[in-house]
Amino acid sequence: MLCSPEELLQKNQAVSTSWRRYRVEPSFDSFVELAVSINSFTEFLIDKGITALHHASHQLEQVALALFSKEVGHPLPQAALDDLNERVGALARMTHAHASATAGLIEHRQDTHPASPASVRIGQTWLIAQNRADWTGLEAQLGYFGMAAGFITWDQDLPDSAGVAPLLLLDLGSLPGTEWRVRIQALRQRFGMGQLICLNVRSDFEQLQQALSGGCDSCLLEGTPPHAIIEHIMELNERHEQEAYRVLIVEDSKTASHLIRRTLQENRIVSEIVNDPRQTLNALKQFNPDLILMDMYMPNCTGVEVARIIRQHDEFLSMPIVYLSGETNVALQVDAMRLGGDHFLTKPFNPVFLNTIVMSKIERYRALRRSMYHDSLTGLLNHSSGKSTLDMALSSVAHEGGFLSVAMMDIDHFKRVNDTYGHPVGDQVIRSLSWLLKQRLRRHDILCRYGGEEFLIGLPHTDAEEAFRIVDRIRHDFAQIRHPCHDTHFMTTASAGIATYPLHQSGDALIRAADEALYQAKRRGRNRIHCGDD
Ligand code: GH3
Ligand code: MG
Ligand code: MG
Ligand code: MG
Repeated sequence: MLCSPEELLQKNQAVSTSWRRYRVEPSFDSFVELAVSINSFTEFLIDKGITALHHASHQLEQVALALFSKEVGHPLPQAALDDLNERVGALARMTHAHASATAGLIEHRQDTHPASPASVRIGQTWLIAQNRADWTGLEAQLGYFGMAAGFITWDQDLPDSAGVAPLLLLDLGSLPGTEWRVRIQALRQRFGMGQLICLNVRSDFEQLQQALSGGCDSCLLEGTPPHAIIEHIMELNERHEQEAYRVLIVEDSKTASHLIRRTLQENRIVSEIVNDPRQTLNALKQFNPDLILMDMYMPNCTGVEVARIIRQHDEFLSMPIVYLSGETNVALQVDAMRLGGDHFLTKPFNPVFLNTIVMSKIERYRALRRSMYHDSLTGLLNHSSGKSTLDMALSSVAHEGGFLSVAMMDIDHFKRVNDTYGHPVGDQVIRSLSWLLKQRLRRHDILCRYGGEEFLIGLPHTDAEEAFRIVDRIRHDFAQIRHPCHDTHFMTTASAGIATYPLHQSGDALIRAADEALYQAKRRGRNRIHCGDD
């Protein structure tokens, strides 16, 4: 969720540069450039979770967009120029302050299995409250999920070792109402890149408003149970883990296609250009985009014809297609949409608008795909996509050489959980095991909900011994998690079986062998891991 100070400064520099350029050459085109760079910086800040700067950048964007019209002459009236100048300058100063605060902090994604629970993807967690005893439950659970929290009271200062991007959990219930805003603002100022989550917030409008406008990222109301707090943190974390959006540009004009590509780049959207529409199908298969931007008029065929050809292929039926064309004839636009398009933008396009349309279409498309390939309870890959992902990973390991271990993990005596506490509580137990697994596995590991309370785990480049160590640690920590139910809690365990490539050569053989090993683990008493290849 962090970015380097250099990246942040560079992004902000683009805003200052386009503003300087506008001052030298005040035209509609140079104002468009300015608006695009501000929009891009704002999106960047949202993406990186830099809340403190985002507010200022978003306001600047609003001011610029309000002036974004053919009716406003250039140069802008003096008052507007002064206002923009002040805002661009203030944003640059704030950005520099944040960048120097981050300098020296090196954050890179864990690409090894986290050795200790504290070293997870989120920054170090701190809990600030008055009475530690109120939070023992939450502290313990955070630990099991790999987010062990440091604790301080409101009278203490966070140490320098808290870095600049910690995850701060603030017990507002233990602060006098008059102090809230000041304390949150001070923390926000010091930790521009941190995540501030307020706990124990009263649900009245005024307190929520105060906390949010003070600069916290989210509020959880009083009475929110520990597992719901953890769920919230997990979701925050996931939002920052998305892969870059991908767009295929089908456009015969080299100039136009590069202009589009540059606009998309501003929002870190990756693109590929096809100048010859007959290459579209190949490019779709190789590049695997989230959306197609389609020119209307090209030699050899029209955009509508290409769209129809694409729609003949089942796998591309739901791929969004946005037409970009100089065509302003509404009847033609309607026809184009009827024949397989999702949106029509006319050239010359407004770049901010283009980016917004593209991103919102992609978000919906991804949500749709998630529902097709992922399990709705846990968000993990579902049975069939898990198996095909394993097959793909296996073929690349087979190509490169090395090991791949598969573990089948299953919750012990889960029927009893359902029978004793009810199905919804059972669901929650399944979700907590899935969170724990997500938290502990690497980005390129495979994690799938294989069946009801059974998970398929694929660990590329991991031999049986290491796989045993990783999965056994997860088993150990899962057994420590307290599952809440009414006023009390219960604990449960899981078992797993492990099998490894190259001893077993195919995805199916690996799953069969791991399943057999799981059966052995169950037979030998459960709450244990069995390695079939010993
Ligand atoms: P074992 O230790 O041998 O695995 O015992 P078990 O009770 O877990 O065995 P079994 O696999 O037979 O039972 C799994 C149960 O999980 C049966 C089914 O009702 C329940 N289940 C399957 N899917 C879900 C789900 O999505 N939610 C809930 N709450 N229960 C589910
Ligand atoms: Mg054309
Ligand atoms: Mg079971
Ligand atoms: Mg089962």
